[in-house]
Amino acid sequence: MADSERVHKFLSEDLTVRAAGVVATNIIEEMRSLQHTYPIATVAVGRAVVGALLMASHLKHGQELSLYFQGNGPLGTLFAEASYEGLTRGYASNPSLQVQMSGDAIRTGPAIGIGLLTVTHHLPFGDQPHRGTVIIRTGEIGDDIAFYLEQSHQIPSVVSLGVHVDSYGRVLAAGGVLIELMPGHSEETLNKIENRARQAPSISKRILDGATPADLVNDFLGDLKLLPLEHDYPIKYQCRCSQERVIRSLGLLGLAEVDSMLAEKKPVDAVCEFCGRKYEVSLAELEALRSEVYKESLN
Ligand SMILES: [Zn+2]
Repeated sequence: MADSERVHKFLSEDLTVRAAGVVATNIIEEMRSLQHTYPIATVAVGRAVVGALLMASHLKHGQELSLYFQGNGPLGTLFAEASYEGLTRGYASNPSLQVQMSGDAIRTGPAIGIGLLTVTHHLPFGDQPHRGTVIIRTGEIGDDIAFYLEQSHQIPSVVSLGVHVDSYGRVLAAGGVLIELMPGHSEETLNKIENRARQAPSISKRILDGATPADLVNDFLGDLKLLPLEHDYPIKYQCRCSQERVIRSLGLLGLAEVDSMLAEKKPVDAVCEFCGRKYEVSLAELEALRSEVYKESLN
């Protein structure tokens, strides 16, 4: 059994640069096999999941965040969430999109299209979540997260995410690096990191060659003295779907839709888009749902 994967975090000795790196090949392959995604969706959702894991590693206990890409491209919407403790899941609304691949580098931008990226930071204890929305800059996911960090938090950053699939669509490498410049950083440090980012080899190629999270971070920050930070949570692809949640999501479709399901006079089959688990919603459950949705519609 391979070492469990986790997000490794570092801080520069002068406290002006923080970094997180992860190799997430196993969980992204697990996600692919659960959802049977085609390569373009595997790469796009995989990058988003890795990005969410890296960002979430800087939250606090019990907090999580989500990335929601609403583009007008053929892949549809893209969603990924992760908790500080390393639990994550994601999906694309069109996981079976087929795209002609040319060469090694898969570009997700054309599949995602133009639109908005919303980052939601969920707090525990029922506090209102924080939300920030920016335009989708390139649809390559890493660039979009960096743009969000700059626009919403005034943090200059380098976000490099990579997912490599073989000719059968299986994930052979997945991971990424998030480097953030904190207040008080020098221009010189910023220039150095930007220079290195321009020359850095592709993340997925580095992981294929056996690079560890620390190696990935060092590709960008090799000149800085880095202190490792404690963050000992194995990352895990985990779906929290349940019969109850599936029924609730049917309710979100609205009264007319629930009525048309009832008119069929048979149980409804539903599949969780995050994990592929199958659910059956009985007629009795549909009727109970209908009266709830009806009551809500009166409010
Ligand atoms: Zn599920």
